Amino acid sequence: MKTIKVNVVTPDGPVHESDVEMVIAKAESGELGILAGHIPMVAPLKIGAVQLKKDKTSEYIAVNGGILEVRPDQVTVLAQSAETAGKIDYDRALRAKERAEKRLYEQKNEHVDFHRAELALKRAMNRISIVEKKY
Ligand code: ATP
Repeated sequence: MKTIKVNVVTPDGPVHESDVEMVIAKAESGELGILAGHIPMVAPLKIGAVQLKKDKTSEYIAVNGGILEVRPDQVTVLAQSAETAGKIDYDRALRAKERAEKRLYEQKNEHVDFHRAELALKRAMNRISIVEKKY
C-alpha cells in the first residue's frame, strides 16, 4: 500500500515523523481518515488520539488540539502539545485529571475557570486512554 509521510510538531519541536499507510484524526468536524494522495486540506483538531496505521499495526499519539494540514505526500500535525504513547507519564496524567476534576467540582467558586479546567481534564483523559489502550 502507498504510504504518506506524517510529521507531528509542537512549539517545543518535532515529536514524531514516519511513513504510514493511514492517518486517522479527530477533527472538529468529525473523524478524518487520510491516505496517500488525499486532496490538500487544513482542519482544526480536537484534543484526541491521532492514529497512525502501518502494516496492520497502529501507533497512537496524544494530541492537544492544533491543526492538521494535508498535502498529497505529507500530513503535518501542528499541536500545542503532543506525546507518543511511550512518552506519556501516566501518573502525571492521573494527577492532572484529579486536579481538573477537583476544580470542576468546586466550580461554584467563581475564581475557578471552568473552561480551563475542562480542557485540562480532556488532555489528561486523552493521555490516560492512550496509555490504557482505550481508544
Ligand atoms: P500538566 O498539568 O500535567 O502539566 P497539561 O495538560 O497542563 O498537564 P500541557 O500544557 O498539555 O500539560 O503540556 C505541557 C508540556 O508537558 C508539554 O510538553 C507536554 O507534552 C508535556 N506533558 C503534559 N502532560 C504530560 C504527560 N502526562 N506525560 C508526558 N508529557 C506531558
